[in-house]
Amino acid sequence: MAVNAYDPHLAWVRPVRPRTPHECDECRRIGSSWVVHLRLCLTCGRVACCDSSQMRHARGHAQLSGHPIVSSLEPG
Ligand SMILES: [Zn+2]
Ligand SMILES: [Zn+2]
Repeated sequence: MAVNAYDPHLAWVRPVRPRTPHECDECRRIGSSWVVHLRLCLTCGRVACCDSSQMRHARGHAQLSGHPIVSSLEPG
């Protein structure tokens, strides 16, 4: 196994674009609702609601997909 001098998490960060910049992808699909705060998966560009939301899709996505890096998708 090669030694990686960088933070291994950086390997997960890709130049993604949010697929659904203003809404939680999962919530939209199932017709649920979310609170204002959204998270963006920096690996695949999935937008998901944060832990403040009922469904916690960002957490679910990280667990299901193994994508560990999410950033906040709030303006500024
Ligand atoms: Zn959601
Ligand atoms: Zn992802």
